[in-house]
Amino acid sequence: MTDCLFCKIVAREVPADIVHETDRTVAFKDINPTAPVHVLVVPREHVEDAAAITPEHADDLAALVVAAREVAEAEGVGGPDRGYRLVFNVGPDASNSVPHLHLHVIGGRAMTWPPG
Ligand code: AMP
Ligand code: ZN
Repeated sequence: MTDCLFCKIVAREVPADIVHETDRTVAFKDINPTAPVHVLVVPREHVEDAAAITPEHADDLAALVVAAREVAEAEGVGGPDRGYRLVFNVGPDASNSVPHLHLHVIGGRAMTWPPG
């Protein structure tokens, strides 16, 4: 996608605070963090959102979740005594604002449930 913000971050055409990379994923700090740890993990390949995922995306999806765990551990919120929240927002009711699949890794404070 030529006009996608997160594709441009993956391509290093837009700057971001990149904290983790694999052959399938790139992770960078959210520009407007909602918690002490707030990182977005995205597939290098453009996928619109979680509702567009099909069985063909299985490897990318697993890579996102594994990368999220590695990010959480590196940021100090992995392991049995801490914890973090993984979020895919889909559509306007969930206020999805960037149409490139991204897994929010949010942690560093106690979470409330249900989310707002
Ligand atoms: P969502 O509401 O799930 O679509 O989340 C999009 C997230 O992207 C928001 O939390 C934004 O703060 C974040 N965001 C938007 N632009 C950038 C950017 N250039 N660099 C890092 N994070 C961004
Ligand atoms: Zn994209």
